[in-house]
Amino acid sequence: MKAEILCVGTEILLGDIVNTNAQFISKGLADLGIEVYHQSVVGDNPKRLLDELENGFKRSDIIITTGGLGPTPDDLTKETGAKFFNRELILDKNSLDDLKDHFSKMGRSYSKGNNIKQAYFPKESTIFPNPHGTAPGCAIEEKGKTLIILPGPPKEAAPMFTNYVIPLLEKYSSGIIKSKVLRICGIGEGTMAEMASDIINNNTNPTVAPYAKEEDTILRITAEASTENEALNLIKPVEIELRKKFGVNIYGEDDIKMEEVLGKMLIDKNYTISSAESCTGGLIAAKLINYPGISEVFKEGAVTYSNEAKINRLGVKKSTLDKYGAVSYETAKEMAEGIAKTSNTDIGISTTGIAGPDGGSPEKPVGLVYMGLYINGKTQVKKFQYFGSRDTIRRRAAMSALDWIRREIINI
Ligand code: ATP
Repeated sequence: MKAEILCVGTEILLGDIVNTNAQFISKGLADLGIEVYHQSVVGDNPKRLLDELENGFKRSDIIITTGGLGPTPDDLTKETGAKFFNRELILDKNSLDDLKDHFSKMGRSYSKGNNIKQAYFPKESTIFPNPHGTAPGCAIEEKGKTLIILPGPPKEAAPMFTNYVIPLLEKYSSGIIKSKVLRICGIGEGTMAEMASDIINNNTNPTVAPYAKEEDTILRITAEASTENEALNLIKPVEIELRKKFGVNIYGEDDIKMEEVLGKMLIDKNYTISSAESCTGGLIAAKLINYPGISEVFKEGAVTYSNEAKINRLGVKKSTLDKYGAVSYETAKEMAEGIAKTSNTDIGISTTGIAGPDGGSPEKPVGLVYMGLYINGKTQVKKFQYFGSRDTIRRRAAMSALDWIRREIINI
């Protein structure tokens, strides 16, 4: 079966919102082994929407739309779908009851004029309830063509896709495509691809592909098989090989975040931690605090941006700042020691660097970051050089800081 995704909404065409619906639907279809050949976007315009349905069904067996199910007259996806299949729209009593119920729970009054439109569906369609909003979705199946209509908001479309569309489409699935992601920090995409080149080149099922992400890099292992177990069995030996090659550089798998990995380690080992941040401006603390339960070990995050703050809050010596500057090995060292001592923690992490875009010099270019790590009674300092925008430099530096702590804890 060939499928395509058609997202409806002028906001997407204007660039006001990112088309995340197409992303998760494509992912879901790949998991079902249904191939996606096209993704398109059309504005809230019934003529162009109808054209897209006509063209789409010339190429594909399944079209999944999102958006255009709202109560207003310019929301016309169901109406256009009904026109394409030459079906009338019929009021669905259950959907009307759900709609009224939804409004009364929200303490809002239900307006027949507009909202009743959301309880009308093309005749003989399968209706997907929407407990997260007011617009149910539906599917029309006719002569080998399936049109699936979902609401626009991802919080409504995603659960509807998982709970109703996947079970409906499972009958069309000839096999499944399963992926496993290994997350790596501290090695660029190019180096990673080079290190894994034999594994990448020698495998076709599963395939291994390297990708650079915003803050880390990933290796995606993807297998095609007729069952999930079979796919997992194909993935396993390749994963073992990659783990052997990359060792400690792999910090986690699939959607896990660095702060979850590190947060768990800190709590398990009962290491208390504090941070003194200059160029990262609290990102290290913010990441750690993302991890629930971190309050057991995270004591304090100080954003010590000015020289005065470094002196007054952390006890960095004025003579150090005068002699070596704020962005230096020596300052990073005193910052890490200062925060660990004054917060009374086992670990103190510090950052001081030049996030740019202005302010660099040949000796201290934009992207230069010194980090200090006080751990186990010893202080180490590392020098990093990042590239990219101010935001990228700051986020990558925060990520490296967490990764460095993770590696040190593994070695203890
Ligand atoms: P509603 O009942 O809320 O009016 P709708 O089905 O008519 O829903 P739209 O009006 O097209 O959907 O979109 C509502 C909101 O959903 C958009 O403002 C946007 O925030 C989000 N949204 C719509 N389409 C997408 C998409 N393809 N990807 C991500 N978000 C989307």
